[in-house]
Amino acid sequence: ASPHVRTRRVLLKLSGEAFAGGQPLGIDATVVQTIAESIKTTVDDGIEVAIVCGGGNMFRGAELSARGMDRNRGDYMGMLSTVINCLALQDFLERLGVETRVQTAITMAQVAEAYIPRRAVRHLEKGRVVIFGAGLGQPFFSTDTCAAQRALEIGADAVLKGTQVDGVYDADPRTNPDAVRFDSLDYGEVLQRGLKVMDATAISLCMDNGLPIVVFDLMGKGNIVRAVRGDKIGTLVSP
Ligand code: UDP
Repeated sequence: ASPHVRTRRVLLKLSGEAFAGGQPLGIDATVVQTIAESIKTTVDDGIEVAIVCGGGNMFRGAELSARGMDRNRGDYMGMLSTVINCLALQDFLERLGVETRVQTAITMAQVAEAYIPRRAVRHLEKGRVVIFGAGLGQPFFSTDTCAAQRALEIGADAVLKGTQVDGVYDADPRTNPDAVRFDSLDYGEVLQRGLKVMDATAISLCMDNGLPIVVFDLMGKGNIVRAVRGDKIGTLVSP
């Protein structure tokens, strides 16, 4: 292991879809348990772990808006969905004995701490897992953009994006059997080819600040631990 490993800090982005497992809606306890166990392993390895949860297993503003709802309201519903995922993950982590704090970008004092960056860093230094909820607290952003922003603000080494696909492909591997997976890409290629890594806002934020992104299959056994350790896994997007 590298001597720097004890001071390494990562930002793990968990998509909302992952929480639902195979279901269209809600939270699959087996999935969250598995994720929590992997996070515990990385914390036990001495790595500082911050997490951003998505909310796509419940609501997405753009989808609600397509069905007639006011976009801003839909986005707030989406942000609140992410908080439910955060609380579920917090519960599973704490049952494993991992200390956690949830911080939300929309204040809800009875439920979670407010997002206070310096306090978040202090929690991380004490070995607590910090789970960020409610995205950036503003409509028209995604939790991917939030993940990039939080990673930069807390000084994480990389954004690790756990999804249901094992990396970035040149076409959707779920519908196109000839799709080819990339081992690595630069930000420009992602933007030019319109590859579905993260939305353009998130990618350009990472690009402007040289923040590496690792896209990997969240549910593959041991994958979170391998991604955090810097093993070759999924697709690396970097300068
Ligand atoms: N959202 C938002 N601002 C943010 C983050 C999220 O408005 O800063 C809303 C948006 O409607 C989004 C939803 O919350 O669709 C859920 O987040 P996201 O779609 O990023 O979740 P994921 O796809 O990762 O499950």
